[in-house]
Amino acid sequence: MDGPVLRAQGLAKEFRGFRAVDGVDLDVADGSVHALVGPNGAGKTTLFNLLTGFLKPSAGRILLGGRDLTGSRPEQVARLGVARSFQITSLFPQMTPREHLELALAGGTGLTWRFWRSHRLLDRFGDRAMELLDQVGLAGHAGTPAGTLAYGHKRALELALALALDPRVLLLDEPTAGMGAEDVERTVELVRKVRAGRTVVMVEHNMSVVSSLADRVTVLQSGRVLVEGPYAEIRHDPRVISAYLGD
Ligand code: ADP
Repeated sequence: MDGPVLRAQGLAKEFRGFRAVDGVDLDVADGSVHALVGPNGAGKTTLFNLLTGFLKPSAGRILLGGRDLTGSRPEQVARLGVARSFQITSLFPQMTPREHLELALAGGTGLTWRFWRSHRLLDRFGDRAMELLDQVGLAGHAGTPAGTLAYGHKRALELALALALDPRVLLLDEPTAGMGAEDVERTVELVRKVRAGRTVVMVEHNMSVVSSLADRVTVLQSGRVLVEGPYAEIRHDPRVISAYLGD
């Protein structure tokens, strides 16, 4: 691990006078897995949306390897190397995992998919698409319509779509949310595998997942950083315990 690859400095987001993110400083070390945790309403989702350009900050800066990303649009942020796992809601039910990946690799959108396919423009991305599906354990479902995939497989497809961008920084939004123990375990293994050569920032509620994966943890509360450090240190911090118990 090296110096910070992704930094937030004094980052803030105000919604009609309410500061959902209120002056956050965050240093994510190159090659690390960095978890963002905190009670509901702490500002984790807003911070993620700021880091990926889906929201514009009211104040503060975002730096990627020294380059100022503040105010960049999501496509620009993704092109510069910060990608988030897609939401299941953005999958196209009739398209197969392989087609999703071919289209992502080609830089197309779901709306243009039929055009790309009818002109056989996606064929050259087939091998890479299959490699990515294999990496996330979906090769056996490459031709199944995404709408009929099991929940855990849909989440694996989202991850593969983010990996298609070959991002330097991969942002995972609650990668194990709604999963049973078996899928959680599989996802932990998967994140271990795909973190090689990258930096991962994840919002995660499941503390056993955080303890297995995260090098560092930032605990947010009321839009501010409450505590930051390795999991082993922050887990016994009385401030963290009381934030979770809500006093
Ligand atoms: P978390 O992900 O940690 O649960 P969020 O970032 O979703 O927290 O929300 C932080 C706070 O900001 C919450 O009080 C939430 O109600 C508020 N908030 C989030 N998005 C908006 C919005 N678009 N407009 C107004 N308030 C918002």
